[in-house]
Amino acid sequence: MPLMEDDVLSKIYYCMERIIVFDGIDDVLQHVVKTASSLTASDAATIRLFNLQTGKLDIKAGIGLSSDFLAQPPLELGEGIIGKVVQDCKEFISTDVTKESHCSQKDLAQVEGINSILSVPLKNKEKAIGSLSIYRKSSKAFTDSELLLMSIFAAQAVEAVEKTNQLESLKKQAIFDQLTDVYNRHYVIKRLDEEIKRANRFNHPITITFIDIDDFKKFNDKHGHLLGDKLLKDFTQLIRKGLRKNDLLGRYGGEEFLLVTPETDKEGAQAIANKLLALTKKYSFLGCDGDVTGVSFSAGISCYPEDGTTSEELIDIADKAMYEAKKRGKKSVVLSGKQITA
Ligand code: GH3
Ligand code: MG
Ligand code: MG
Repeated sequence: MPLMEDDVLSKIYYCMERIIVFDGIDDVLQHVVKTASSLTASDAATIRLFNLQTGKLDIKAGIGLSSDFLAQPPLELGEGIIGKVVQDCKEFISTDVTKESHCSQKDLAQVEGINSILSVPLKNKEKAIGSLSIYRKSSKAFTDSELLLMSIFAAQAVEAVEKTNQLESLKKQAIFDQLTDVYNRHYVIKRLDEEIKRANRFNHPITITFIDIDDFKKFNDKHGHLLGDKLLKDFTQLIRKGLRKNDLLGRYGGEEFLLVTPETDKEGAQAIANKLLALTKKYSFLGCDGDVTGVSFSAGISCYPEDGTTSEELIDIADKAMYEAKKRGKKSVVLSGKQITA
């Protein structure tokens, strides 16, 4: 076996090193195209990944190419050179892309001055999830050792993409409620604690609105648990539409939600809650057999600093005010006050 040059060995060693998991998927992908391009002294590189939602291949990162080139629409599987690399899970090499019969973007390639291409599939368990492509603005062919290098590097890139996606999904689970996609109880309380610190520093009020859907058990009993879940999703979407950018909404429990409105006093929070209640009452929620039904909620409001200085105190007082609204016949908003909290 011929001795490999030190340079090639060090490049292979670099490829075999695990790609550090960067801050997010975009960082990882940008690192991949940059490294692929510099390892092979190429002029440009792109990465396309399969989009599970659309079933198409999106350009996710690129280097050495114009923004017009990178803004190309997604490719169908099997479309053009790269679509075929992914579909067949097989590499492709050419010294002149513009002469390839299945090159779908000849004009764009000409504008960029691209001649040579080496595209390798990003393989995950014998299936391709995308492709890594490198380009030269000359007809200098990519060699077998460059193909080997890119194949090794692509395997490392797939591992990095998978790890980063898993990490991002774990981070998402730690923050968001899976059913409704608003913050979960743990995270909304964490954010409330942060807002309390900020309010203390800048001398702002904060209000907490504890929202509990009325007679949700009856809805579940009549329409079934699945439509109950749908109602929870539709309800949160509706409420979100009525909120401002800095307002925080979290699911506290089953059909209970916590709304944190920074820099808002009680009267402001009451106006917001009444607006949300009117929105909810007007909305037709889907019931069984295509039936539609109206829903309401009861809400209680507490305010920092007058009702408490910790998240526990503020939530407890808002919860008590919410129960007062239930006692008064539901479908209403009650502000905390001595008569409620006593
Ligand atoms: P009230 O007006 O006094 O608040 O009555 P309610 O029926 O809304 O309240 P209750 O606490 O009696 O019942 C809440 C119901 O919410 C019971 C529980 O099965 C249901 N629930 C909790 N979590 C979920 C969920 O994730 N999905 C569905 N479909 N139902 C849920
Ligand atoms: Mg409840
Ligand atoms: Mg309820």
